[in-house]
Amino acid sequence: MKIPGVEYRTLCKYCNLSNELLIAEEGGFRVYAYDEPFNNGHLVIVPKRHVPLTELSTSELYHALKLVRRAEAVLRRVYNPHGLNVGLVTYPHAAFHVVPRWNGDVSFIKVFFNAKPIPETPMEYARRIRNAWEQA
Ligand SMILES: [Zn+2]
Repeated sequence: MKIPGVEYRTLCKYCNLSNELLIAEEGGFRVYAYDEPFNNGHLVIVPKRHVPLTELSTSELYHALKLVRRAEAVLRRVYNPHGLNVGLVTYPHAAFHVVPRWNGDVSFIKVFFNAKPIPETPMEYARRIRNAWEQA
């Protein structure tokens, strides 16, 4: 039931990421340290507008991929991972997740307890990556 006169906003995770986790902002996109990281250094690149992938222009897609490429360079320099995965959420709010991977990083703790120990908090790694981002 909706109450007349009350503004209902979509509860969107990507529209409500904390500014404390913000790493960079450019070309209509924001880069954040993800607050529910799969791994240390997990970043997410999101358009500032609450739009699905189908509503991003070709030049916005190009810019998003340039940010993914920069995220790769920064994460490789800071964490030297064995690999990097990109996961794309398309709807309702497009989001490019960039996740550093290490051999054996799916541990028994994840399998049995659906939890994963991460050596740094997202706030800590946001700080570290923010510094490296400026130098990339
Ligand atoms: Zn959104």
